[in-house]
Amino acid sequence: MTENGKINSFEIAKGQIDIAARYLDLDPGSVERLKFTKRELIVHFPVKLDNENIRIFTGYRVQHNVSRGPAKGGIRYHPSVNLDEVRALAMWMTWKCAVVNIPFGGAKGGVECNPKEMSLHEIERLTRRFTWEISLLLGPEKDIAAPDVYTSPQVMAWMMDTYSILKGYSVPGVVTGKPVELGGSLGRFEATGRGVVITALEALNYLKRPIEGAKVAIQGCGNVGGTAAKHFDRLGAKIIAISDSQKGIHNEEGLNLERILEYKAKYQCFVCEKKEESEITNEELLELDCDILVPAAIENQITEKNASRIKAKVIVEGANGPTTPEADEILNDRGIFVVPDILANAGGVTVSYFEWVQNLQELIWSEEEVLDRLTRIMQKGFKEILEISVSKKIPMRTAALVLAIGRVAEATRLRGLYP
Ligand code: NAD
Repeated sequence: MTENGKINSFEIAKGQIDIAARYLDLDPGSVERLKFTKRELIVHFPVKLDNENIRIFTGYRVQHNVSRGPAKGGIRYHPSVNLDEVRALAMWMTWKCAVVNIPFGGAKGGVECNPKEMSLHEIERLTRRFTWEISLLLGPEKDIAAPDVYTSPQVMAWMMDTYSILKGYSVPGVVTGKPVELGGSLGRFEATGRGVVITALEALNYLKRPIEGAKVAIQGCGNVGGTAAKHFDRLGAKIIAISDSQKGIHNEEGLNLERILEYKAKYQCFVCEKKEESEITNEELLELDCDILVPAAIENQITEKNASRIKAKVIVEGANGPTTPEADEILNDRGIFVVPDILANAGGVTVSYFEWVQNLQELIWSEEEVLDRLTRIMQKGFKEILEISVSKKIPMRTAALVLAIGRVAEATRLRGLYP
């Protein structure tokens, strides 16, 4: 799973198929097919920087599987974006859509860049040129983009605008996670974080543990981590730690979330104000004694190196791929209940699906309607996975993959092989 000491997410994703296939009656050829992505586009493109220099960026769009519907997946701007990471993320999108049973296949895209070192104008020019470069794959009936790490509703607005200019008319359905003013769905911005909380509640309910007073530690305070923190807080849980890419803040008695996030927005970092509050590293945060741990930043954070020191009772994976397979085994042996990423963070793609449906039908649903539908879909997904997990005596992640891969394999079988 490692190459030059780095964990390869695509190798992990392919290995997961083999694990799930043990519980499914599939022919070896079908299993092999699922390990390949369908289409991969690599683009090298120029962007004019504010200082008038031109820099070449590398971007990717990968479609993993479209048996169940158009490809769907986010766009990531991060220095570590690479082809294998995008392939893994595209594959996980296929399973995620299948787990919550929405009619999409899986895709992902990204640009290798550091948006923190770029101006807004540079990010806009990069977004528009990248959209043009991958526009041959995009389209509401073919491949629909969405936000991911360090891409925002504004980035989606630029993508939609660029694609619409190419077509000559407005095409809101080509991206989801847009600003509401451009056809974005009410409730989309918070959907992933809310889904994390909905599935955490289901897990607590199953384990007969209360949410009131539950200690929660959250790695990452972006869209997913920040939203999940807010809703855990509203439900009476205690957020004892939260972090960003630099460091975290910890208070055993529970943080004043509103103030912490206000300061973070103002000063771009966490500010300890009370004597009970202390700075904490991302590594320390993961090992805190808590009821719920939410990794909501990037991949491969819980590994064989720290899994034996994790003290959380429940892990709800807001991020994609935060736990390595070796760590999974350790967590499983230690009886830690894991709500796997392909379910826990599926709230985002679920409301993206609602957004796409509203765009195609030119409808506007109320936030209550969106939330109600989201809650029912997430609860159903949890229940179906739990049933497989209990009946087959397998971990929740394997159960989720069995459910998802079973659905994708059946759709592929029904469509048959051309020619
Ligand atoms: P975001 O850009 O809004 O926030 C990312 C957060 O992670 C920030 O707080 C950042 O400081 C932190 N971070 C970045 N690098 C880090 C590091 N090395 N260590 C610790 N923290 C780090 O992104 P997001 O949309 O919240 O996405 C977070 C995760 O959730 C990603 O894995 C993403 O793929 C996944 N996800 C997001 C969505 C969505 O709708 N936004 C949906 C499904 C899954």
